[in-house]
This record gives sequence, C-alpha cells and structure tokens, in this order.
Amino acid sequence: MSISKNFDEILDQLKAIVGPKNYIDDALKMDPYLSDWRNQFHGASPLILKPLNTQMVSEILALCNENHIKVVPQGGNTGLVGGSVPDDSGLEVVVCLEKMNKILDIDPVNHTMTVEAGCILSEVQDAAHKAKRIFPLSLAAEGSCQIGGNLSTNAGGTSVLHYGNAKELVLGLEAVLADGSIMNSLRRLRKDNTGYDLKQLFLGSEGTLGIITKAVIKLFPIPVNKVTSIVAISNLQSTIELLVKLRERSGDSITAFEYMDRACIDVLIDQMDIKDIFDQKYEHYALVEFSSSRHNDNLQLLFEDSIAAEVLNKNVDDAIVASNETQVSHFWNLRETLPGVLKNIGEYVTFDISVPISLLPELIINAKKVCNRICKNSRVFVFGHIGDGNIHYYLFKPPEISIEEFIDLKSKIKSSIYDITAKLDGSFSAEHGIGVAKKQELKYYTSEVEIELMKIIKKSLDPNNIMNPGKVL
Ligand code: FAD
Repeated sequence: MSISKNFDEILDQLKAIVGPKNYIDDALKMDPYLSDWRNQFHGASPLILKPLNTQMVSEILALCNENHIKVVPQGGNTGLVGGSVPDDSGLEVVVCLEKMNKILDIDPVNHTMTVEAGCILSEVQDAAHKAKRIFPLSLAAEGSCQIGGNLSTNAGGTSVLHYGNAKELVLGLEAVLADGSIMNSLRRLRKDNTGYDLKQLFLGSEGTLGIITKAVIKLFPIPVNKVTSIVAISNLQSTIELLVKLRERSGDSITAFEYMDRACIDVLIDQMDIKDIFDQKYEHYALVEFSSSRHNDNLQLLFEDSIAAEVLNKNVDDAIVASNETQVSHFWNLRETLPGVLKNIGEYVTFDISVPISLLPELIINAKKVCNRICKNSRVFVFGHIGDGNIHYYLFKPPEISIEEFIDLKSKIKSSIYDITAKLDGSFSAEHGIGVAKKQELKYYTSEVEIELMKIIKKSLDPNNIMNPGKVL
C-alpha cells in the first residue's frame, strides 16, 4: 500500500488534531521516544503525538488508517522487547499516551478505579492507597510505566502469585481501533457474560490491534498485616519445596516469593556498596512476603513457625525478618535495583522464561550446563518471580572473548536456552511480550494454528496494518 496523500500534509493534519502544544516534530527533542530503556532498539519518527483524550486518538487513527500511515503506541517506554520504539524508516508516527493521565473514578464499594491509559502505575497505586485500597500490580518500572502499557503487555511483576497478571486485574476497557472507531467496554462489572470478551484482544497484544485509552481496574483491601523476609537456602530443590510448604501453611497470605542467586547478591554488594545480608554466603535467596487484610491474623507467628518447620526440614538455612519499614524498603530495593544494575555491567544476553514451578530447578541447572559448554567462563545471574515459575536469566560475556565473538555466540545460546525451556513445557516470553525482540521465537515455538489465528485477528482488526507494524507478528 502506498501513502495516498502528501506525507507532510498528513503530518500537518495530525498536528492540527492534537494542537500546537501536544506534539514534537523537532528531531533534537525526540530522542527519549526513539530508543528503549535498555538502549538496544533505536528508531526514527517524523512526529510524536500526545493526544489529550479518546476523541483525539480516534481522529489520529482514522486519518492514519485512511492514508496508510503507520502508528506506534507508546506508554512509559519501559518495555523490554522493543515494542514501543518505531522502526528506522522515519515514517512511523508515535502516539504517546502521557497526557491522558487522569484518574477518572475511584469506587471503594465496588473496589474499582477508572483510569486513563497514560496514568503512571505508581500514581495509580498512590491514588488507590488514598482511598484505603490497593492496586496490586507492582514492578520495578512502576515510577515510569503507564497503565496502558501494563495492560498492552499484560505485565506481571512481583505480586502475580497472589493477585494475578495485569490481565486479571481488568474489568473494563476503552480502546480505539485502527479505523478510529471507539470500543467502549468500560464496564465495572465482575459478572458480564455477554458474548465474546473483546477486551481480552487488547490485553497483551502490544499495541498491534488498537490503542487502549481507558480501563476499569480492580482494587483490593489494604493489607494491615505484613511480614517481609529474606530467606537463605542451600539448594534449588529446597527453594521450590519452601515455596510449596509456605503456600500450604499460609493459605492465601503468601503474596511474594522472589528469587535471587548468590551472583545477584554479589553484584548488588559490589555496585550498591552495601553489607552482605547474612554473616555467611548462601547459594540461593528468596524475598518472601506474607500479607493479609485480616486484622486478627498473627502473620509474624505464622511466618516464624513456618520457617522454623522448614529449618527442621532442611529447606531453610537462615532467615531475616524486616523489623521496620526501612528494612522492608531495603529488601525490596535489592530485588528491584537488580535489572538497572545488570544493564550497566557489560555485554549480555538475557531471558525472561517460565516453566511449571516444579521444573524450575531442572531449567536453571540445564541452562547453566549448556551455557557453560557454549560460552565458557560467562557470568550468569538468575533472579525473578520464582513463585510464578518465571526467571530472568542473564549471561555476560567472558573477558577472554571479544564482543564480536560473543555476538556470534548469542543466537546459539538463545536457541539452546529456549529449546530447554520448550522441552520443559515452558514459555520463551513469560512477561515481557514479543515486540521485535522475540518475533523469531514466536514463529518457531508457537503452533501454526495459533499463529494463523493471530494473523486472522490482526487482519480483521487492522486490515491496512497500521498498528505497530512489524511487532509481534
Ligand atoms: P511501553 O514500553 O511504552 O510499551 C510497551 C508495549 O505496549 C508496546 O508494544 C507499545 O506499543 C504498547 N502500548 C503502550 N501503551 C499502549 C496503549 N495505551 N495502547 C496500546 N498499546 C500500548 N515487566 C513485567 O511484566 N514484569 C516486571 O517485573 C517488569 N519489570 C521491569 C523492570 C524494569 C526496571 C524495566 C525497565 C521494565 C520492566 N518490565 C517488567 C517491562 C515493562 O516495564 C512492562 O512491560 C510495562 O508494562 C511496559 O509499560 P510502558 O507503559 O512502559 O509501555
């Protein structure tokens, strides 16, 4: 398809839709919108549009669709697979939702909040708190990522174990389709079996089917009891057994079980200039949180009894319970600082993979064996949301090989790890999505029928392929 009108003329019309203060066309000011957080994907664009409301988004898409102008939706631009970055053609227009950032309604009785897509996640969390509720989605990028981006990537984070992925936290949605029409499913209902659940199409589809403009999200009571602890464990199997036992004993009170291996603790000590957590070094660490909104729960006692039992069962070597809020923040800070620390210490290849929880030890052990064979002496860091079967696996270039040699090895390392994951019935992308980074893997590890269905959906919703083209499929 060719661009039917003069490109510059259409750009002027797009500028007119949002008004003079709500776009960037100066190349010098566009940089933050044209690369990703890890600085691995870079693109070009003639125009960054910042619509103020759904009507503007609708007019933008209608005009782009009519003229076959490609559109890249962008939230906080913290995605890790290149989905929010335009390609290098200089022809894709970025639609950034940052000015659609109003909290429209908080309904404590219904336990819902209605928000515009450009709301920053931490601001949504704060607003919920003020209304004596929580919005439990939580990830290290929460100070920058937007709710629209969270929903478009079906973000996971640190509270999936208890509250589920972003998808499970949505009741209603408003989205603008490629042709500009507005799908209003902004309902606050917990029960609504009225035909296909259309909002699901937009949750996790990474801006390839439309632009999310508003959402009704679920709130929960504020936990009034909380125990936060770091537990040291000597082997991986015990880590999984500990998780299972804590779940059995605590019922629904275990709300986080985050893993870090010794290499992660070492790099944090080195880069953050902090003291070790225990007097002794251990191979495995779990950041465990119990929380409950029941006033009469004695979580501290429950946690301590559970840990004591697991010391006897040899699933725990040591544990430290945070005694105040400063220590709670310190424990979480360790876990949440890791991605930022790792991105700055060398050339690496990284994985966001998941398997059924019982198979995690096999995944980690086999992955390390294979990596050591392909890329001897590489430094490996493993951490992540082990309570959901999801690990982040980082492998760094060994000093004795050149960057070029390492880049050559990357594809072999990738296919080996992904093959191991697939054999264990796992996923090559647990929570970060596909974007541009994992398109090949999607093709290779997903059945033809599923790919064909995705293409049919894409074609019927976006026949001119204007929505985030080249991403996902
Ligand atoms: P962007 O990066 O701007 O966009 C992501 C995708 O969504 C793109 O394809 C974009 O086109 C599309 N999109 C954005 N907004 C819209 C919209 N309104 N309508 C339609 N499409 C849209 N992810 C996790 O799941 N769990 C984690 O624990 C986690 N931790 C992270 C930690 C760090 C330090 C960083 C940098 C990232 C982390 N991420 C994590 C990845 C990232 O933060 C999430 O994917 C987040 O949900 C992206 O939100 P965003 O607003 O930044 O979206």
